Amino acid sequence: MVKYSRQRECILRNLQSRKDHPTADMVYESVRCEEPNISLGTVYRNLSLLSETGQILKISTGNGPDHFDGFTHPHTHFICKRCGNVLDLEGFSATNPIDQASVHFDGRIDDYELKFFGSCAECLSIKK
Ligand SMILES: [Zn+2]
Ligand SMILES: [Zn+2]
Repeated sequence: MVKYSRQRECILRNLQSRKDHPTADMVYESVRCEEPNISLGTVYRNLSLLSETGQILKISTGNGPDHFDGFTHPHTHFICKRCGNVLDLEGFSATNPIDQASVHFDGRIDDYELKFFGSCAECLSIKK
């Protein structure tokens, strides 16, 4: 794993510098100019490693490939059902959803996931 640390660092920096929630393929395309010897398999492996350690977020869209986010502060995502774009929903916060969900639940809730789905502005303006 140490062998890949420079490439992993490069992938992490790439993710932290962009806001478009890329897929593994998109990350691969953009780190290749910096790390010409990197393979798509290495990108996949490092992305899952980075998301396991909490350094990046993995966003499953429920349809198509996973997207990744270098911004790990809790925030809410919108997923376009037409083009698969993943966008940040600015200014939205669910107030204590775990507290609310726990009221009628006997177990312990540690985490939750909230996603919004619809059509992005770009898709709406194309008007297919
Ligand atoms: Zn769209
Ligand atoms: Zn995000």
